[in-house]
Amino acid sequence: MRLGDWDLSTVNGGRFRLDGGVMFGVVPRTVWEKAVRPDERNRIPVANHCVLARNRDHCVLIDTGFGDKHDQLDRNFYDMQPGSPLIASLASLGVTAQEIDVVLFSHLHFDHVSGAVRRGVDGELTLTFPNARHVVGRCEWEEATSGAPELETAYPSCDIEALRQADCLSLVDDDEEIVPGLRVRVTGGHTRGHLAVILESGGETALYPCDVCPSTLHLRRMWHLAYDVYPLETRRQKPRLLGEAADGGWWVLWNHDPQVAVSRIERHPKREFVVADPRPAL
Ligand SMILES: [Zn+2]
Repeated sequence: MRLGDWDLSTVNGGRFRLDGGVMFGVVPRTVWEKAVRPDERNRIPVANHCVLARNRDHCVLIDTGFGDKHDQLDRNFYDMQPGSPLIASLASLGVTAQEIDVVLFSHLHFDHVSGAVRRGVDGELTLTFPNARHVVGRCEWEEATSGAPELETAYPSCDIEALRQADCLSLVDDDEEIVPGLRVRVTGGHTRGHLAVILESGGETALYPCDVCPSTLHLRRMWHLAYDVYPLETRRQKPRLLGEAADGGWWVLWNHDPQVAVSRIERHPKREFVVADPRPAL
């Protein structure tokens, strides 16, 4: 879709499945299963809509999916789409890995960062996007590299280490412009340094809230991921962010929604927010 000078495309970072309880936190299954039917292992389908934002000057990839390095045990557990969906999806758009000049991570969980690091022919880990500046929130990088035992399972240490060694990182603070027309907002909540992305051009705005509101099933304040490290912060920040999007008539880009890649949203007296103009791809 066009957003002023930006050309926005959905890039598939790899479909998978996550436990329904994990997807909806404190919401009981008897409630969420009315919205989405789980499989026999209590998992629900999860999309991985990364965003490619192109204009005359830049080719920005927002998030990179889970990549292609997982072993069979993980692949079965998450029912991960096989192959290298991110690279295949970029290729179908006619974009090579070399052309990406900015990779922007909302946060550093495996399903957002692992696609940025691949295994080379020699078996060594190497950057998937060798010419890109890799942008991540300063807080997020500090948490991911803190070595804190309580965060140990949250971050894929091999990928984090590969990024560190590649010397490709650019750490950003709140409300920083990454390239003209694209800025980030530190939301916290899901992780301490989690970023939302705001794209603006030609009087139009698009919000990528990522895991602070991963799908159109998460519009309500209390419907958030059990993975959230700071759930109270998600409950504070999400309604603010969605309120801005609703009041401003912004597009919202849904990272993990299998049905809706982009929509607008409207305020609703009972349901907080509702979807308007949903579309399956950008
Ligand atoms: Zn995620």
